Formats: sequence, structure tokens, C-alpha cells
Amino acid sequence: MNFLIATHNMKKRDELARILEPLGINVMTAQQAGIELTDVEETGTTFAENARLKAVSGCRESGMACIADDSGLCVDALDGAPGVYSARYAGEHGNDALNIEKLLEALKDVPDEKRTARFISNVCCVFPDGREIVSQGTCEGKIGFAPVGSGGFGYDPVFMCDGKSFGELSSQEKDKLSHRGKALREFFNKMTDFTCEKQQ
Ligand code: IMP
Repeated sequence: MNFLIATHNMKKRDELARILEPLGINVMTAQQAGIELTDVEETGTTFAENARLKAVSGCRESGMACIADDSGLCVDALDGAPGVYSARYAGEHGNDALNIEKLLEALKDVPDEKRTARFISNVCCVFPDGREIVSQGTCEGKIGFAPVGSGGFGYDPVFMCDGKSFGELSSQEKDKLSHRGKALREFFNKMTDFTCEKQQ
């Protein structure tokens, strides 16, 4: 079975594919499937709601099982911001450099011990028969004082975990620790149960 990945973020798409394909889950982008997906407005107030909005729309438009991830960064000293607004924190969707600049400015007087934060990923997969699988992963860390490393995407260069920024990690190291890695491995386990149930 091929799964459609509902995202326009190519870096996120790469992460989803490199985590899921070794688990035997074949994923395709809309482009690879030869379809154009509507840009879904993320009107939900939670990651779970937004992941579901994207997966439902992708499944409806393609007729394929569709996987969507909605994720973001929640910073304790900012009462959980930027949260569901992570991609557009500085006003322009997906401008990573501006988002990081705004975050560091907001935290400029916050000492190291109070810079705790977490990445959260919610994954939703919707099947053409209407069934759904949802999963979540969290990764605890701290916000650094300046960007370090050039790997990954988004807030990776300022997200410190186990003494290194996510921007310094190899893809394999990030996937082992990351919110997305955890959410997708949980999705895979649920998917295996789902397939077994169908065969019974
Ligand atoms: P979404 O496409 O609405 O889920 O946007 C998620 C946003 O959260 C991204 O644009 C990034 O700013 C941030 N984000 C989510 N996951 C990660 C990650 O693994 N590393 C860095 N930033 C992330």
C-alpha cells in the first residue's frame, strides 16, 4: 500500500520518508502521485486537530491513505508559544531565520535553567474507508542562546537536547530522539495492529 504524505514542507517530507520507508511503509508526495493538494488552512487550536484537517483533506482529494504531521515548538517561558503557530511565529509562513530571531529576542533575558521547551509532533493517518490512526511524540530540550549547526530545519539550530543542538545532529541521530521519530514509530506500531485486525 502506498501512503500519501500531506505536506508542502520538503524538509519535513524528507524526514517522514526516511523514518517510514525503513519500516516498510511506502510514502509518496502529491507530486509523485500526480495530484495537486489544496493548501489546508490550519484552523485547529491543537496539533492533533491540524494534523487531522490535513490528513482528511489529503485522503479526500487523492483517494489514498494519507499521513499528515502537525508539529511545533512549545517554550515554557513563553507559556507554550509559539505552539501551533510555530511555522508562522514571525509572521511569514516557514521563514525559519526570522522565526529563530524572534524566539531568541523573546527569550533574551531568560536564564538557561528557565529555557525549557519541547517539540511536539502529532501524526494522523486517514484511510479511504474512514478509519484513522493517530499518534504523538514529544522531545524535551532547552532553547540555546544562539543558533548552532546547519542541519535539519525550522528551530533545529536553537533546540538543545542532550548537550547538542538538533542542527548539529546527523539525520539518524535526530530521528532517534525527535518528536517526529517517536510519533511515527508509534504510528507504525498502531498500523501493524490495524493490519492484523483487518486480517482476522
Ligand atoms: P507545520 O507544518 O504547521 O506542522 O509547521 C511546523 C513548524 O514547527 C515548522 O515550520 C517548524 O518551524 C517547527 N518544527 C516542527 N518540527 C520541527 C523540527 O523537527 N525541527 C525544527 N522545527 C520544527
